[in-house]
Amino acid sequence: MKVYEKAPAKINLSLDVLYKRADGYHEVEMVMTMVDLADRLEMSELPRDTIIISSQAGYIPLDEKNLAFQAARLIKDRYQVKQGVYIHLDKKIPVAAGLAGGSSDAAAALRGLNRLWKLNIPTEELQRLGAELGSDVPFCVTGGTAVARGRGEKLEMIDNPPQCWVVLAKPPINVSTADVYGRFNAAKGQRRISSKDVIESIESQDFHRLCSSMGNMLEDVTVGAYPEVRQLKESMQRLGADGVMMSGSGPTVFGLVSKESKVARVYNGLRGFCKEVYVVRMLT
Ligand code: ATP
Repeated sequence: MKVYEKAPAKINLSLDVLYKRADGYHEVEMVMTMVDLADRLEMSELPRDTIIISSQAGYIPLDEKNLAFQAARLIKDRYQVKQGVYIHLDKKIPVAAGLAGGSSDAAAALRGLNRLWKLNIPTEELQRLGAELGSDVPFCVTGGTAVARGRGEKLEMIDNPPQCWVVLAKPPINVSTADVYGRFNAAKGQRRISSKDVIESIESQDFHRLCSSMGNMLEDVTVGAYPEVRQLKESMQRLGADGVMMSGSGPTVFGLVSKESKVARVYNGLRGFCKEVYVVRMLT
């Protein structure tokens, strides 16, 4: 038997870092949603007790470091599953980009293996398992739009944002989330981000208020280390995107665009100097 799952990319509409906790994690408040740029997982049953990962992407680990592998091993251990699985990852989401590609693959593996092995694990339990794999995994299990608190695993589902075009641009650098948090100094008094404004703008489906209230406290850290992120932001703004922000710990920058007529201008303008540019829709 075979099952397929889509693993969409997430973007942050806000990311506020509140403080560093005693356990080393940062307490955050962020609004996250998904876009229709997705990896695709094909999961086939293996009679042997093994987990095999393959992918056309040469630049991700295919061993126990792969988050889909870790998801499979976690489910196998917890539910004493004797069968093995062969997982093929068709990667479309750029890696180490701030788009939670690995987390979404892990979440898709949890959902898919739950079906493949007919385990009937409730969604909340899949999310608890996901939290053991990474802070963004619980959100990726359900997708939608959520306010995430704690280290990202405490979720409050909210309405989806108003539909619009999303232009994603990734400069040719890979950024480690741990490294960005390591450089972040919560005491430095960066501009606080108001997730409340973002949430209210979504409740009232006010696109322009959403664009002006988005903010990401990690942006200064990544921009400080990689000036190309600032350049991309400025270019997107100049080309007419309505709201522009870096996603997660970066380096991907996204622009929200309400009018189809403007999307081609933003895309073509960016393509002049950035190789990885995508035009997608919010997943609503
Ligand atoms: P986040 O925003 O959750 O920090 P990200 O988009 O910045 O995620 P990922 O694409 O998830 O970053 O990759 C982070 C690291 O995880 C990479 O260095 C990669 O080698 C490793 N990794 C493990 N499994 C996967 C996977 N299935 N897909 C992509 N990267 C993976």
